Amino acid sequence: MKIAIDGPAGSGKSTIAKQIANNLNITYIDTGAMYRAITLYCLNNQISEDNLEMIKNALHEINLEFINNIIFMNDLDVSLEIRSPLVTNNVSNYAKISIIREFLQEKQKMIAEEQSVIMDGRDIGTVVLKDADIKIFLTATVEERARRRLKDLSGDGYEMDINILIEEIRRRDEIDSTRLHSPLMKAEDAIEIDTSKMTIEEVVETIEDLIRRG
Ligand code: C5P
Repeated sequence: MKIAIDGPAGSGKSTIAKQIANNLNITYIDTGAMYRAITLYCLNNQISEDNLEMIKNALHEINLEFINNIIFMNDLDVSLEIRSPLVTNNVSNYAKISIIREFLQEKQKMIAEEQSVIMDGRDIGTVVLKDADIKIFLTATVEERARRRLKDLSGDGYEMDINILIEEIRRRDEIDSTRLHSPLMKAEDAIEIDTSKMTIEEVVETIEDLIRRG
């Protein structure tokens, strides 16, 4: 079984996909974490987004693995570092680079060939799992998405201003949906769910119901 979940930042994708993976006993793949890990590597090694030669070399040096929903980059658990505001504010600029996208899309397709997966991201229904059994596109108002981000961040120990978060989310959505290579977009055959006024449980139930009905 292949389930694709796409949507803008903070629409609830990862929380919901994780729960569904758990309930259905299938693998959850957070593709955003992969783009974040590459961004972290580039930032740590002072590789700017316009240095394609260095990025190409870096991709050969990076080994990404998910073990029990924890992302390891070259055997190091980077799950906390990839959520830092620095990575969050730079990730979209690296995620628009074609060689990075092609490298990760290839990897994601390979993972999905080997097992049943629920994958979340921006281009899963349109590119990575074009043949998914079910495609979901999650949305929510930017204010609600910022409130959710604020809560997540404070859980990770970061304090932020909600208005700054709203601006950052708007900027990230704009870069993600206007880039040339596999932009954030609802697949034609995806089902759109506005989660602004829904609880996590309600969204999970709605999607599981859609899966059951095939
Ligand atoms: O999902 P998350 O917010 O962690 O994703 C971080 C960033 O990674 C997105 O803003 C986007 O720039 C990029 N991304 C992407 N394609 C995906 C998943 C994430 O471009 N499939």
